[in-house]
This record gives sequence, C-alpha cells and structure tokens, in this order.
Amino acid sequence: KRALVWFRRDLRVLDNPALSQACELSKSVVAVFVVSPVQWQKHHKSAIQIDFTRRRLLALKSELSELNIDLKVLIADDFNQQLDCVLDCVESWQIDAVFSNREYEVDEVNRDQQFLKLLRQTPAKPACYSYEERCIIPPGQIVNGSHAPYKVFTPFSKNWLKQLATMGWHCLAKPNKLAIHSNTFASAAELAEHWHCSLAAEDWPAAEGLSKDYAVATPDILAQLRTFAREQSQDYQQQRDFPALDNTSKLSPHLAIGSLSAKQCLARLCHEHGAPWELAEGPKTWLNELIWREFYCHVMVAWPHVCMNQAFNPRYQQIQWPNDSLLFDKWCQGKTGFPLVDAAMRQLNQTGWMHNRLRMIVASFLSKDLMIDWRWGEQYFMSRLIDGDLSANNGGWQWAASTGTDAAPYFRIFNPETQSKRFDGSGLFIRRFIPELADCPTALLHKAGAGGHYIAPIVDHGERRQMSLALYKDHHEQL
Ligand code: FAD
Repeated sequence: KRALVWFRRDLRVLDNPALSQACELSKSVVAVFVVSPVQWQKHHKSAIQIDFTRRRLLALKSELSELNIDLKVLIADDFNQQLDCVLDCVESWQIDAVFSNREYEVDEVNRDQQFLKLLRQTPAKPACYSYEERCIIPPGQIVNGSHAPYKVFTPFSKNWLKQLATMGWHCLAKPNKLAIHSNTFASAAELAEHWHCSLAAEDWPAAEGLSKDYAVATPDILAQLRTFAREQSQDYQQQRDFPALDNTSKLSPHLAIGSLSAKQCLARLCHEHGAPWELAEGPKTWLNELIWREFYCHVMVAWPHVCMNQAFNPRYQQIQWPNDSLLFDKWCQGKTGFPLVDAAMRQLNQTGWMHNRLRMIVASFLSKDLMIDWRWGEQYFMSRLIDGDLSANNGGWQWAASTGTDAAPYFRIFNPETQSKRFDGSGLFIRRFIPELADCPTALLHKAGAGGHYIAPIVDHGERRQMSLALYKDHHEQL
C-alpha cells in the first residue's frame, strides 16, 4: 500500500496524527506540501511567515527522509490548482490513501470538501483520512448545557479543563522508519531553488533572511519549549505583560505553521510542573493562553462568518468608521507620535513579531483613537506577522475593537500614556525600538510627542476618545 501525506500547517514529524497513521497503515509513504502564492496573497500571508515555512520545510524534508519518506514541494497558484496538483500526484504515483490534518478556515474547508468529491471520481477511488491536530481538544467538543458553543472565554476554559481531565491526552511519537524508501523526488538543494524561483517576485519583499532568528530544526524547537517550560514559565504570570522583559515563550511562529503542536506544549508544561489542574500560578497562566488559542479556533469553526470579514457580533457589522488613510499609514509606519504605539509597530515591522500587551495597545489605538476599521489592522498584522493565524488574529482584533466574543466593552478605551507608564515604566522597550528617544527623560517618554522630544502626536487622545465613544453610542442607538 502506498500513502500520500498532504502537509499543510502541521510541519512536524512528532505528534502528527496524519503522518503517524499513514506510516502505521502503509508500506510506503510519500509527502507533499503545496506552495500557493496567489492563495497566500489573497490571505495576506506575510513574507516572513513564508520564508519561515520555507526554512522549516527544508528541515522537515531531511527529518522525513530519515523515516524513508520523501517530501515533494509543489507549486500551484491557488486552492483550485492545488486540487489538480494533488490529484495528479495521487493518480501518477498510484496512491491508495491520502492522509491530512484538518484545517478549519472557510476556504480550506471548501477546498477539502471539493478534494474529497474529486477523489471519489477518480478510477482508483483512494481512501481519504483526515485528523484533528490543531487544538488539544478539537473544535465542536466544548459546548455549554444547551449543546451550543461558548461565546465567553471563562466558562469555555473551565469546561475545557474538565473535559481534558475526563478524556486525557497524549502526544504521538515519531513514526518508525519505513522499510521501503519512496526514492523519487528532488533533493533539499533543488527544493530551495524551486521555491526561490516561484517566490522571488517583488510581491514578497523582504522575505529572504528575515526569519533567520527563528529555529526550524526539531531539536532546537523542542529545546526552546523545554527551556521556557522549565525556566521561565514559573514567572510568566508576573512578567508576561512587560514587553522589555521578553519573558513569553515566543513559540507562536511554531504553533502557527505547526512545527510544534499545542499538545506538545501542554505535555512539556505538565512534565515540568504537574497536572493541568494542579499547576502553580505561572504555568497555569501560560496554559490559559493556550486555552485562549483553542477558544478562538473553536469560535471560528462555530461562527465561520468571522473568516469572511464580518464582525462576530452582527450589531457591529455596519459601524461607519471614518477610515483616514493618512492616519492609517502613520500607524503602520510607527510614526503616530505616541512612543509605545510606535515602538510596538516598529517591533512588528522589524522583527515580524509583537508582544501580546502591545498587540492589544496598538489594536485599541487603531480602532478607538484613530477610528479605523479593525479589519484594516487585522490585515496589516497578517501581512507582517511571522505567527499570523486567522483565528487568533481575528479574535484579538475583534476583542480590541469591541465587536467580538468576550470583547472589552466599547467604553473601555486604552490610554496609551497610562499603558506605557504601567508596562514600560523605565522606557527600556521604547528606547530599544525608537533610538531617537534614547536621551529623552523618562518622565516625558510616555507622553504623546514625548514632551517635545519626539514627533508631534497625530491625534489628541482625549478628543478622539470622546469621538469614538460617540461613534459607538450612535451606532448602538440606531440599532
Ligand atoms: P505566549 O505568551 O508564550 O503564549 C503561548 C501561546 O499561547 C502563544 O504562542 C499562542 O499560540 C497562544 N496565545 C497566547 N495569547 C493568545 C491570545 N490572546 N489569543 C490566542 N492565542 C494566544 N497570536 C497568534 O498566534 N497569531 C496572530 O496572528 C495573533 N494576532 C493577534 C492580534 C491581536 C490584536 C492580539 C491582541 C493578539 C494576537 N495574537 C496572535 C495573540 C498573542 O498576542 C500571541 O499569540 C502572542 O503574543 C505570541 O507570543 P508568545 O508565543 O510568546 O506567547
């Protein structure tokens, strides 16, 4: 029997149900990953995540080849062409069964349904198996007393922990090496070249080299997880909100492309600190963040309209945002005159990653102070983040804009100066990303315009706060 494993955002050999099952049930296994530049552009996938994926694929190719599995990287512009491309492989390599892990975004779900239909029309009608791997508890399994999905995080997380205790969990080991090597495909060097040709267009500026700070070989990824779980997770609760401390795990890029699973994170945390329901405050708070990740994914599956540019809460779908594109450009460039907002945006632009506290601050600033449609910010984030993930990003943006599940009420508007004093009191983070403020006295550093030491603020926070409240209030009254 010959199996095909179709890799997507599950780029790992450990704890990979599709790969494990394919190896278990088949004598020979081949693997594919399909690069889809047009589709990726449509989804605003960032250059840095593409480059990171490319580097991870090179490592994955050699990890798979140790198992006697060849990974073939194919190019197909969009999801329609992906189908033709994978079907072509199935037919020409005489595949008996296709294995993949499930994706939950609307376009991906439609693609997979279409694939199944087409596969059934082929003369050989190979079997098709799909598995749950993105969440520790699959979407759809956490429901309230009326069998409906949760719209609020706290009861979701309580139920999540209860279910975890009942069902238990384990990570899948690396599959055993197969006896037969499917020795038909390109070498790692050819793969790199192939990739380069199709993605070196101007459409993907700055892709090359930006992601080099992020490890891609499995032992390095696991070392990062182990070090965090052993040495940093105890202090997570006290330190996680201070961007200058850099004390969060920075595992999000791996969770986004699946070079690490959430289950692996949970397993390592528990290995160090005990059962999920007995954890001390630090590790427990970190687990809570993993549960937020699950929550937003479950929400996306239950309410797929969030994938289609719609507010979770339909009441907020029609807000008339003033949308000043000049203000938006300043926000993107990190030139608003609000030091912490600008430092955060420059962190994003320079590194492809932004600290969670700062994501909340800049998202609130865009939607409430600049009164710009949160979808503009959501898209900009996707196009810049190394860890861009539709459900987490959409959930975070809708939370900040008060249009989503469990959202901050619209009258709760972050004050950038207060946030700055509270979470970057010494100004270490601001000075790291805004060198022109290196000599600015700390007493002035948090103020808009840094008391004349910095570019003038593009808006007045107090004024915009009132305007924003009026916008939301009017909208409410019209409903
Ligand atoms: P840690 O603090 O170490 O947390 C561990 C893991 O838990 C993270 O890697 C992530 O997978 C998950 N996680 C943590 N916080 C959240 C959260 N609030 N929501 C969902 N999952 C969470 N996260 C993304 O992975 N991709 C995104 O595109 C994304 N966009 C965001 C946009 C906005 C406006 C906001 C407010 C948050 C967004 N987040 C996103 C969530 C969060 O900011 C990042 O997951 C986190 O900063 C990643 O850093 P870390 O790995 O060090 O996290």
